[in-house]
Amino acid sequence: MSYNDRRRFIKLGLASSAALAAGCTDAPKAHTSTTGPDRTKGPLILSTWKHGLAANATAWEVMRTGGTVLDAVEQGVAAVESDLTNRSVGLGGMPDRDGHVTLDACIQDHDGRAGAVAFVQRFEHPIRIARAVMERTPHVMLVGAGAERWAEENGFSRRDVEIPEVKAKWLEWLEKAEYRPVVNIENHDTIGMVAMDASGRLAGSCTTSGMAFKIHGRVGDSPIIGAGLFVDGEAGAACATGVGELVIRTAGSHTVVELMRQGMEPTEACKEAVRRIIRQNKDMQDKQVGFLAIRADGAFGGWSVYDGFDFALRTNDREELVPTGHDRKWVG
Ligand code: ASP
Repeated sequence: MSYNDRRRFIKLGLASSAALAAGCTDAPKAHTSTTGPDRTKGPLILSTWKHGLAANATAWEVMRTGGTVLDAVEQGVAAVESDLTNRSVGLGGMPDRDGHVTLDACIQDHDGRAGAVAFVQRFEHPIRIARAVMERTPHVMLVGAGAERWAEENGFSRRDVEIPEVKAKWLEWLEKAEYRPVVNIENHDTIGMVAMDASGRLAGSCTTSGMAFKIHGRVGDSPIIGAGLFVDGEAGAACATGVGELVIRTAGSHTVVELMRQGMEPTEACKEAVRRIIRQNKDMQDKQVGFLAIRADGAFGGWSVYDGFDFALRTNDREELVPTGHDRKWVG
């Protein structure tokens, strides 16, 4: 099979195989009522997927011991970046189609200051480089070779990691035309985190190895401020996970925050952002997207296209994985 034949199965990193009942709406088992939000005075941490539990634990400890909410969101997701068993974040992530693991990350604080890196290779902590870009440069985003050079010049060391299991999966992918990455299982997907401290200050972070077997050079939503993450202390914070192209095209996290600014409950704002994506895309088969949000008053929520998107929640009295409400039933 030719290279192009293999590639035609990928289609934005996702090829379809199973039929979904179009427009099927699954009665949402929403973690929040759609008439009134969950709310806390903070501290409060939400992060995507099961790996969010470990990230939240680290972030909570940072705030408990006097760190800022910005420190918390940085260190929380950095803990997941260090986990080489994680196949969607950090150097343990799945490679692109050329066999390279390329990483994207961003961070934003209560006042809207932001830093991001994209398409960087061989660094353990893209989130730390993103924060350094925010704090030490006049820019928001550095990418590729320039980002890598700047990181080295600013004290970040390269790290080479070769994981036989990952290499084997890539080689297998090169051979198996029917392979399709799935974005709705726990060991895949970005970690996005939004948090509020006890005084109501917000921050957010997002870091990923992106879609498995993407085209070399592809960057998704995760490092894009307004797409994978958006924080505005006046209104709220939101982050996204799933098929990044769909999130970028709708400025997803920015949409969620702006809807909350207009008074919408976080769950409803996430739902509307998801529904814009559904309206914009006829073919949503196998394309998961989920959002999490905290409003400036401490209300929080989430929503996803399909079931299966859980978020990790940490408050003074809750530490758990919570399913989001969703529009469709995943039958993949
Ligand atoms: N949003 C990420 C991307 O498009 C993928 C993910 O969440 O797994 O790169």
